Amino acid sequence: MSYEYERVATPRSGLRLHLNENTAGCSTRVLEALKTMTREDAAFYPDYTAAIDACAVWLGVGHDRVLLTNGLDEGILAASVAAMRGTDGGRPYEAVVVVPAFDMYAACVDAAGGRVIEVPLAPDFSFDPEAVIAAVTPRTRLVFLTNPNNPTGQGIRRDAILAIARHAPHATVFLDEAYADFAGDTLIGDSALDRLPNIIVGRTFAKAWGLAGLRVGALIGSAETMAPVRRVVPPYSLNAYAARALPAALADRDYYDWYLEQVRTSKDLLYDALQTLSIPFWNSSGNFVLARFGADAPRVMAGVAARQVFLRDRSRDPGCEGCVRIGAGVVAHTEACIAAIKEVLCGAP
Ligand SMILES: *Cc1c(COP(=O)(O)O)cnc(C)c1O
Repeated sequence: MSYEYERVATPRSGLRLHLNENTAGCSTRVLEALKTMTREDAAFYPDYTAAIDACAVWLGVGHDRVLLTNGLDEGILAASVAAMRGTDGGRPYEAVVVVPAFDMYAACVDAAGGRVIEVPLAPDFSFDPEAVIAAVTPRTRLVFLTNPNNPTGQGIRRDAILAIARHAPHATVFLDEAYADFAGDTLIGDSALDRLPNIIVGRTFAKAWGLAGLRVGALIGSAETMAPVRRVVPPYSLNAYAARALPAALADRDYYDWYLEQVRTSKDLLYDALQTLSIPFWNSSGNFVLARFGADAPRVMAGVAARQVFLRDRSRDPGCEGCVRIGAGVVAHTEACIAAIKEVLCGAP
């Protein structure tokens, strides 16, 4: 079995609701900061002091617990390389991935020579910590948990995360909080992390902060758990523009609060529309909604694409037959998306 990230075609124009991006674009303060870049800034290797400090302050942790990465993707890759290095007497180390999941976990573990152990969610996508614990073996070195999960939008309870970390002290629990901004729920700053140093939390500034194109992510964890991961990340992983952008982005809380509100309103609009259309969906803690169009899924995907609205077909994911993931960002975009879905399903107005 080989695992590869499914690259999707990038539409040149139209509504990109297929990659959970921030559909408003970044704060204008980011562009202002980038305009101050000098010839030397482009020519010299970047200094990360300001970016790390801004990230540490934002997350409320000491700067020594922060590792900035070239997008959270690089953090996932680095954690995978660090954990899967070597073998257990010739047998590969294992990483537990709860599916359906973000594709990068399996892709990175596989690329690092590890073995992916998939644990399926329940049919209603609820999270069962016992199923994860049952999959942990002496060779487990990594457990990927995503809170809230992509593509289901479902959360994981704090006590479930802690129970898994407690049960697998020989493994790193990689808690991907890519959508924590929208969920308003994080383990960062939780006193339990002091007792469970084997948890690394991953964050990204791609989604809520709109920096996906600049590539900025962060790992937060104890010095001992982070040390092998730090050795994997190249010293100048973020480029100078990303490093300049991050403090500027984090300084614009008004923009961030506005965007979170847009996402909340958009999700409510989507729930209402899907309910009216009798399309089953899952309430989401992220900036997207997973809906089960069933046999209509290919027709909906093609029909909305013809109307320049791009969604993500997740129907090949385990347990996601007939499911489409709809990005929920700027309200006007969501309204256009809903109109397109209605046209496809109910006929042109
Ligand atoms: C988008 C996403 C990431 C990757 O974020 P980048 O910072 O853009 O690399 C990581 N994890 C999950 C669950 C995501 O959905």
